[in-house]
Amino acid sequence: MTPAAESAPRWGRRGTAGATIAASLAFEDVRHSYGRVPALAGVSLAVEPGEIVCLLGPSGCGKTTLLRIASGIERPSSGRVLLDGREIAGPSVFVPPEKRGIGLVFQDFALFPHLTNLANVMFGLRSLPKRDAEAAARHALDRVGLAHLALDYPHALSGGEQQRVALARAVAPRPAILLMDEPFSGLDSRLRDSIRRETLAVMRETHATCMVVTHDPEEAMRMADRIVLMREGTIVQAGTADELYRRPVDLAAARFFSDLNEVPGKVAGGLLVTPLGSFPAPGFAEGTAAVAAIRPQSLVPKPAGLCIPGRLVARRFLGEVDLLEIAVNGLDTPVSARARGAETLIPGRDIGIEVNAAEVLVFASPDA
Ligand code: ATP
Repeated sequence: MTPAAESAPRWGRRGTAGATIAASLAFEDVRHSYGRVPALAGVSLAVEPGEIVCLLGPSGCGKTTLLRIASGIERPSSGRVLLDGREIAGPSVFVPPEKRGIGLVFQDFALFPHLTNLANVMFGLRSLPKRDAEAAARHALDRVGLAHLALDYPHALSGGEQQRVALARAVAPRPAILLMDEPFSGLDSRLRDSIRRETLAVMRETHATCMVVTHDPEEAMRMADRIVLMREGTIVQAGTADELYRRPVDLAAARFFSDLNEVPGKVAGGLLVTPLGSFPAPGFAEGTAAVAAIRPQSLVPKPAGLCIPGRLVARRFLGEVDLLEIAVNGLDTPVSARARGAETLIPGRDIGIEVNAAEVLVFASPDA
């Protein structure tokens, strides 16, 4: 398929994906090791029926392991997994993957190369009479806009089309739970947005409870009802995109969602005093070293003589905004600001900096 043809994929009519009866999914103190390699160090999480949860975190934090345990591909070393309150994995119970009513989409799509696209989608429908299975598979292919390629083989498809077949295969049996492991990471960045948008529409139509693994914070923010941020086999924070962005639990969580200026200071009189101003530091003891985390868009350039004095070191045009590097007395490295309408500012000149104090986050110093 030519890139031009692939850049305008047509999906089926919205609202036509088969709906499921969603289930709740709960993990209770789930731990897992691969031999001596620890992967999960006690994860407890309750996913509501119909909720879309994104598991987000750096490579190796245990996201895929949690998904594999939910699917039944992996058995947890300890802890329990419950589907609609019924134990499906635990010390004495293990329900195999095919009995869990769970749909899976893998990063590499994992289509069977020797089967047609239609036969791939029918694979999860083996419990139905052949005619019903074929009708359900054709319906699912139609929803993802690939009915006309039913009798082709996966190798003849583009990456985006393979993803759509994999999605059709996962939703055709109307699973109560849909698990997806980095479902868009193998796709060309030009296509990713539209495929993600259409996939999300299918996910919502099915009403299935969804867990999606991603390492991309923006992807999690676009898709999730709730983001579960993981680190080193544990859940660091769970909440809406807004909650995680505005009230990250620690500096590492804040770093995960955006670039930051990390400005060191000391607490005095309930405020963190830094070269960029003083910011409320409730709960910090007097004299503690802490860090003001300031996003580049929270620094606003002003005419010299106003606000905090600085010197513009560099300006880089980024399209909608300019990225400014500004030297400030008392700081070893320049701070970064992202600002609109800054194209007239000349590097080497003095400027002022206004800090949007309401957006400043104060955290314990990482070196403390
Ligand atoms: P990524 O984003 O890179 O896929 P992840 O967050 O999904 O990472 P996991 O794949 O769950 O993380 O891995 C968690 C830990 O378990 C890592 O240290 C990893 O090296 C280890 N691990 C994962 N699978 C296996 C395996 N089959 N055998 C041994 N160790 C494994």
